[in-house]
Amino acid sequence: MTELKKHFAVIGNPIHHSLSPQIHAAFAKETGLHIDYEAVLSPLNQFKNTIYQLIAQKLNGANVTLPFKKEAYELASQHSNHARIAEAVNTLEFKEDEIIGHNTDGIGLVRDLEQNLNVDLKSKKILLIGAGGAAEGVIYSMLEKKPSELILTNRTIEKTNAIQNKMDVHVKSFDVNLNVIEISKLPHQYFDIIINATSAGLNNAELGIDHKVFHEGSLVYDMMYGKETSFIREAQSKGSKTSDGLGMLVEQAAEAFFIWHHIKPQTKSVIESLRAL
Ligand code: NDP
Repeated sequence: MTELKKHFAVIGNPIHHSLSPQIHAAFAKETGLHIDYEAVLSPLNQFKNTIYQLIAQKLNGANVTLPFKKEAYELASQHSNHARIAEAVNTLEFKEDEIIGHNTDGIGLVRDLEQNLNVDLKSKKILLIGAGGAAEGVIYSMLEKKPSELILTNRTIEKTNAIQNKMDVHVKSFDVNLNVIEISKLPHQYFDIIINATSAGLNNAELGIDHKVFHEGSLVYDMMYGKETSFIREAQSKGSKTSDGLGMLVEQAAEAFFIWHHIKPQTKSVIESLRAL
């Protein structure tokens, strides 16, 4: 008996740039699964309707990207632990009457750092720049790894303060120092890992950080992928190791694939082939 084909999509606005259809097609080929996966553009004020239309068309699951991760959180009737803490959803499972929301961004970032870049987060001093959906989605996964200190900074500092307050209970349970520093007052001391979770690079904008935060031996990571940002170029000029966010993208997709199909796909060859493009 032939297995029924399952249907998936990524929903965003804009969406034409998304690599998710390519990534999931590569995972399906490697694991021998029979699926289709398309990119769907949702009008900005029509996210809920777009999802209900896709459910009516027997979609089995969906990834959600900018700017709908908060709306997806509100739409889901059940949430994974990571989605509940981030209050944002990037992976939906459609099951009979339930819409289950997950957030795989944090797992994707941590796996890229630890498994692909061989950087352990435990006892490390980490600077996270940004307080949007991407930053909020990864903080809990980083705290779980027990760095010695996680410093948050952002152009709009009030957002960082709100995240610090929200994370207070988790900070205590993992026994991690979580501090907030204004972007213009960052110390010049050594950070083991510096992560840019802002969208500044999309518009080639400067972040407004003193480049003395970059040191030889640090890992400087930009969640953006597809183009080299001035943030990465500056870090390289100071001798830091650098990475873009392509590995995180593939690893968060692999976790979504696991949620839907209960199979862990290989990621390294997919990262390599996308990088070669
Ligand atoms: P949001 O729109 O939710 O947040 C944007 C963040 O960027 C805010 O912290 C904002 O600061 C900051 N920012 C924007 N422009 C500037 C600027 N000119 N100077 C300083 N700060 C700025 O976006 P997301 O958090 O969802 O996404 C952030 C980035 O992460 C994007 O580039 C996205 O592509 C990438 N990403 C990558 C993923 C991957 O798998 N590799 C997964 C998810 C996201 P303020 O609060 O002051 O407005």
